[in-house]
Amino acid sequence: MKQHFDIVIVGGGIIGCAIGYYLAKENTSVAVLESQSIGGKSTGAAAGMLGAHSEYKEFKQLYPFARSSQLLYQELYDEIKELTGIDFEMKRGGLLKLAFSASEKEEMASIYKLPAIEWLNREEAKEKVSTLTTSIIGAAFLKEDVHVTPIAVCNGFSTGAQTLGAEIFEYTNVSEITKQDSQYKIKTSRGDFTAAQVVIASGVWSNYFFQNMGLTNRIIPVKGECIAAMNEEIPLKHSIFHDQHYIVPRNNGQLIIGATKKWNDWNEKPTLEGIESVIKKAKEMIPAIKDMKMTNCWAGLRPQTFDGNPFIGEHPEMKGIYFAAGHQRNGILLAPATGKMVRDLLLGNPVDKKWIEAFKVERSISKSTELEEVKL
Ligand SMILES: Cc1cc2nc3c(=O)[nH]c(=O)nc-3n(C[C@H](O)[C@H](O)[C@H](O)COP(=O)(O)OP(=O)(O)OC[C@H]3O[C@@H](n4cnc5c(N)ncnc54)[C@H](O)[C@@H]3O)c2cc1C
Repeated sequence: MKQHFDIVIVGGGIIGCAIGYYLAKENTSVAVLESQSIGGKSTGAAAGMLGAHSEYKEFKQLYPFARSSQLLYQELYDEIKELTGIDFEMKRGGLLKLAFSASEKEEMASIYKLPAIEWLNREEAKEKVSTLTTSIIGAAFLKEDVHVTPIAVCNGFSTGAQTLGAEIFEYTNVSEITKQDSQYKIKTSRGDFTAAQVVIASGVWSNYFFQNMGLTNRIIPVKGECIAAMNEEIPLKHSIFHDQHYIVPRNNGQLIIGATKKWNDWNEKPTLEGIESVIKKAKEMIPAIKDMKMTNCWAGLRPQTFDGNPFIGEHPEMKGIYFAAGHQRNGILLAPATGKMVRDLLLGNPVDKKWIEAFKVERSISKSTELEEVKL
């Protein structure tokens, strides 16, 4: 088994697999090491909204990055399907962001300035989704906030990377990374690997590597609980969104209903109280949902940084060690742009200086913000 590569990526969630894909497209010698199965952690728990407009109240730093990533999905869909046969189900119905009061409408004011966004009054919103509650005053229709099936995107990236020559090692836990001559030794449950460059893309578990490499950076888990229900009666083409809760229709007839936000909770099992609260929020949006049959429930850990921006960049002292982690509630959306940015950093291609600065690993953590929940 080959165990030397130019580049090794630690973590086979959507971020690690996207990086592997974009590097494999450049004919690099690259491997992804995943301690469990590809996409089985936060990525597998996600709803899959590409919410460049729905997720951000302010359109400053992260929005241009998020928007560029959202646009990349348009070309990726055909590219991945052609290369791998995987259809990651890009549902193009857009998203209705509900307003229950004038102040909620006002809060969304900044997004109306952008093209492709339309304000609908209650009647117009109900023309799109007749089962919406009558308690809303209206909704912003975000046509381009489409959604995908996250595990399928992740599998598309990993299968695509493999097809292009990358190697993917599942059930390969990385326990230590040390400098050895001009390269790094990566100690794993499958023996030692070596590489000149290493990318840590292990979501909330990147903390382990920060600590072992002398950095004080921290990623806090924000646990999200979701349910799936079989939708036989409510024709739903659009995702419905309010107060960071959502109902997302999948092609197989299921609705994904989520999600709670439990800050600094490392337990990956859903609780009864969490599930009750997402059902309550969903009923406020579409009351008829109460009659649907629940098919599954789960939880996942969103990787959150102290300021809401991911860490994407090189270790300040250990040349050749890179981090790409902390994408919080938007890692599915941000995966293509992250994959391209890390590819360019590693290959020495030009990268927008704004993004290097905003995401650098060594940005400072003030004591007062370190332990607080970040509101995007
Ligand atoms: C309920 C929920 C809903 C969400 N909805 C959305 C959404 O609609 N849209 C959106 O854009 N985002 C959404 N997100 C956020 C998104 O899922 C995450 O931001 C994204 O999955 C993070 O990807 P990742 O690859 O960094 O982390 P992960 O998917 O957690 O992957 C990290 C991987 O690293 C592996 N690993 C850890 N340690 C090691 C080690 N030592 N050796 C080898 N491998 C290791 C883990 O096993 C894991 O597979 C949601 C998240 C949750 C929980």
